[in-house]
Amino acid sequence: MKLAKRVSQVAPSITLIISAKAKAMKAEGLDVVDFTAGEPDFDTPDHIKEAAKKALDQGKTKYGPTAGEPKLKEAIVKKFKRDSQLDYSPENIIVTNGGKHSLFNLMLALIEDGDEVIIPSPYWLSYPEMVIMVGGKPVIVPTSAVNDYKITPEELKAAITPATKLFVLNSPSNPTGSVYSKQELQALVEVILEHNLYVVSDEIYEKILYEGTEHISIATLGEEIFKRSIISNGFAKSYAMTGWRVGYIAAPLELIKAMTTMQSHSTSNVCTFAQYGAITALEGSQDCLNPMLKAFGERRIAMLEGLQAIPSITAPRPGGAFYVFLDVKSTGLNSLSFCQALLERQRVAAIPGGSFGADNCVRLSYTTDLASVIKGMKRLEEFVNTL
Ligand code: PLP
Repeated sequence: MKLAKRVSQVAPSITLIISAKAKAMKAEGLDVVDFTAGEPDFDTPDHIKEAAKKALDQGKTKYGPTAGEPKLKEAIVKKFKRDSQLDYSPENIIVTNGGKHSLFNLMLALIEDGDEVIIPSPYWLSYPEMVIMVGGKPVIVPTSAVNDYKITPEELKAAITPATKLFVLNSPSNPTGSVYSKQELQALVEVILEHNLYVVSDEIYEKILYEGTEHISIATLGEEIFKRSIISNGFAKSYAMTGWRVGYIAAPLELIKAMTTMQSHSTSNVCTFAQYGAITALEGSQDCLNPMLKAFGERRIAMLEGLQAIPSITAPRPGGAFYVFLDVKSTGLNSLSFCQALLERQRVAAIPGGSFGADNCVRLSYTTDLASVIKGMKRLEEFVNTL
């Protein structure tokens, strides 16, 4: 079969090599500590599940409006006002099948052949592939650990060409956990405005923050940047709703209309009763986040303490999300060899940084219980000591 050329242009994920092996080892009954998952290990809070069950019983089982249930769009508008003092109207919102679909829809509606999209690396692995799938050109800008892997205004400026259309910002970041401060964002805003770029701000980890770190949306930094900002978000990470597939974008009207047209011919609407769960996630008590944040916070500390015993491996102190991004360059191994050997010798599964554009790094997720985090870090220490 002659497949479309774009298939060969998109890279298959090397993370699968590790996760498939870890899965096979677990199936053999081996005690594997799994630091690979990009999803909370908690169940969706009960009141959200109840709302979806009720919606099912009430017959919310039909097609709905393409851009989302009006009640959910209103709840999202209120959320933006409440959390970020941003004024959107429901017409500025589209509900999508998860944050990943939000971003893909956006690329489809905004990016065409030859358009350049600036992506700081390390990056979430789907950004460049999405750009390629729609015919655009990802422009990868390496950032440095001394800046906590955050792009500087100079680095951004140097990557801009006449073909640059969009800049991808992700704070808190997957895979690094870095969170941009207001001052850092302000400096980026100046460059974005000077060059008439658009910025997509992927804020899916906005609620998962530690030690008083604050999430600032770039869209809040003035009228001009608000008009050039596209905010992507979803329910998966904050509310432990990964399987529900509900996300959303807030953006200028013209873009939302275009994305709605694309969505109308691809996925129609998001699962109707799942959207009712999402309404309750936003409108119900936010106390349900506290036990999850507390557990993530304890595991994060345990992971960072475990790392202190391995001086040859360094990592920025993550302010958000649920990842620690290790620099393993001193071991002389590339990220895949490191992860393969770690899994084989010590039964610890981690994601090679090569997947995120950083082949001297490894991502650990603390989406597993505290005892496993402590055990896994001890094994990592033993592994590094034998290298
Ligand atoms: N953005 C980032 C940075 C992510 O890490 C993920 C999921 O891993 C997503 C977006 C997509 O989330 P979902 O499609 O599950 O809502």
